[in-house]
Order: sequence, then structure tokens, then C-alpha cells
Amino acid sequence: MRKKEDHRSILRKSGYKATPSRLAILGVMQKSKSPMSAQEVIDALPRGADLATVYRTLKSLKEKGIIKQIDLRHNHAHYELANLAEHHHLVCMQCGKIEDVHHCGIEDVQGIVLKGSKHFSEIKQYALEFYGICKSCARKNQS
Ligand SMILES: [Zn+2]
Ligand SMILES: [Zn+2]
Ligand SMILES: [Zn+2]
Repeated sequence: MRKKEDHRSILRKSGYKATPSRLAILGVMQKSKSPMSAQEVIDALPRGADLATVYRTLKSLKEKGIIKQIDLRHNHAHYELANLAEHHHLVCMQCGKIEDVHHCGIEDVQGIVLKGSKHFSEIKQYALEFYGICKSCARKNQS
């Protein structure tokens, strides 16, 4: 029950009540290995939920920075917990498969970007995802 406890305190620190629907959504996202769409969140909820409620909850969790929105070019938003270790994603442009990227040299890139910038001295945030073709799609394309 430790994880539930953690989510409770995260919600409280943000000034939110630890409602069952917020806890359920955070629990589902904790278990997921990759960023989830709203529909995937609903499918994973044990007792189901209606889309409007899930959208509303996701939006409010995002506003408090408890989860973050990620663009995987799927024509729908994806979300994941904001307190995960720094990482990015590789996304298959054919089947949508997602893989985490943990080391990509982004720290060095930030230095290069700032060095070349005329008007900026600081980078606070960035979004970095990689789009390609996964090995199983590549095999299918060949046969
Ligand atoms: Zn991720
Ligand atoms: Zn998707
Ligand atoms: Zn693929």
C-alpha cells in the first residue's frame, strides 16, 4: 500500500484531495511502462470510468505538474508521471511502439544550444522524443 500513500501525499502537497478517481488514475500510470493516452488509462482502470471524468482528472493533474503531457504524434495526447527519472522516448512511426531512452546526451546539447544563443542564458524545460521504425516493423517491411 506504500505507493498509494505516496500518491496521497503528492496530491495533498499540491492542494488536492486524494479522491478515489485521482488515486486510481495515478495508480494505473504508476504501473504502466510507457506514456498512456486517456483511452488507455480508462481501459486499465479496474472499474472503468467515463472519458469526460478521466480527461478532467488528467487535465487537473497536469496543471499541478503531477503528470506531464507527452506528444508521441499519435493524434492524441499521452501522459506519464512527472516524478519519473529523466528520460525520453523512441516512437515507432508505423505501429506506435514506445521505448524509453535514458541516455541521449541532452545535457551536452543544452550547453551547445545556450552557447549558440544570442538571447537566452537559461534552459528550464525541453521536450525530446525520437521517431523511427521499430525492428519488428522493419522486418515486416522487408518481407
Ligand atoms: Zn516515459
Ligand atoms: Zn497513443
Ligand atoms: Zn513498429
